[in-house]
Amino acid sequence: MKTIAVIGAQWGDEGKGKIVHLLSERADVICRYQGGNNAGHTVVTGGNKYVLHLLPSGILHEDKVCIIGNGLVVNPYALRDEMETLKEDGIECTSRLFVSDRASLIMPYHLELDHAYEEALGIGTTKRGIGPAYTYKYARMGVRPCDLREVSYLERIVGLALDEVNATLSGRFGRDPLKLSDVMETLDEYARILEPFVADTSKILRQHIDEGRKVIFEGAQGVLLDVDFGSYPYVTSSSPSAGGILTGLGIGPKMVGEILGVTKAYTTRVGGGPFPTELEDETGEHIRHVGGEFGASTGRPRRCGWFDAVCTRHAVRVSGIDRLAMTKFDVLDGLETLRVCTHYRIDGKETDEFPANAERLARAVPVYREFKGWDSIAGIRKYGDLHASCTHYTEELERLLGVPISIVSTGPDEKDTIFRERIAF
Ligand code: GDP
Repeated sequence: MKTIAVIGAQWGDEGKGKIVHLLSERADVICRYQGGNNAGHTVVTGGNKYVLHLLPSGILHEDKVCIIGNGLVVNPYALRDEMETLKEDGIECTSRLFVSDRASLIMPYHLELDHAYEEALGIGTTKRGIGPAYTYKYARMGVRPCDLREVSYLERIVGLALDEVNATLSGRFGRDPLKLSDVMETLDEYARILEPFVADTSKILRQHIDEGRKVIFEGAQGVLLDVDFGSYPYVTSSSPSAGGILTGLGIGPKMVGEILGVTKAYTTRVGGGPFPTELEDETGEHIRHVGGEFGASTGRPRRCGWFDAVCTRHAVRVSGIDRLAMTKFDVLDGLETLRVCTHYRIDGKETDEFPANAERLARAVPVYREFKGWDSIAGIRKYGDLHASCTHYTEELERLLGVPISIVSTGPDEKDTIFRERIAF
């Protein structure tokens, strides 16, 4: 099978953009299967830095087909802005970008609701309407690209949604209600923006797979933010886990060949929620500063901590990860001692399970194993040239996680990458 999934095996921001971009050179088709423009994938190539939110990272290679699957929530304005930015650099998306006719659209009222709820609850969302768009999808009041020219259907669905939305916005949050006519005008604009790109992407993808093309399934966020398997309720509203690929693109399980997880050599998380190995001291500050750990989408400082083998083992299991790419080893340069969490102690008992309940996870005290640090590995491109402590760390992590670390990344540039084995797809 010539397909590979690249998914985040921590709380997102693992460096998936760089890995997807690298593998895209050999791919024909790159697909996103979940999330929306809450993602922020950074790619540094040819001296330029691109931050992609909604478009698959493969879009930077001009000859690749890119698919935005039905599992995504799409804000057409955000899509248009992203395409225009690329166009300024001579990168054209028309005729090779396809947006599923069954994707869900982010409506103006989803943005309003997201702001209102975030102010009240503080989950730490990106306030881009992602959560409400998924809520309305599952409440069967969503609007999809295939609906945009069905005006009477649209008025009925949007009318139904607005009854609820306005009751919440004005009744609960004291905000102004939205008008049906304004929403319909926005939808008309949505239709014009999306028209050249809308297609039955499940069919297109299947055809590419059947014809033997190489396909990448690009995850956004990470398994620990998965709505089912993450640190619920401090999660995203979709399924970054491997399972999301099938429902988010409309393909069968046998179409997914290899699953490559991406982690950092340490751990970060954005927003609220339990984080057992968090470092709230100068080491955490040092990692944030050296690693540039500020959100690519929102600029929010990321919380930083030691590598947590318990939660990564969980991610490896629930997503059937075959091998890992591990990034940002260079950020740990110069630290004398490193720590890796091998177990948790919860309520006085040792466990190697990642708890389902967030309160229980918040009570987890990490049990650490110490490792000798290393210096000056930034930019090294051969495994044999790495400091012995760094290769020891890598190989011990492999043992703790039970999967090979096939790619080691030593810098943001695509060239700062060590392939320890050939990634076959
Ligand atoms: P993504 O959402 O998983 O693609 O991750 P982000 O793009 O939000 O964050 C990864 C950041 O780390 C980006 O700024 C990358 O350019 C950068 N990056 C990726 N790999 C490495 C690495 O090995 N070392 C360093 N220093 N930076 C890296």
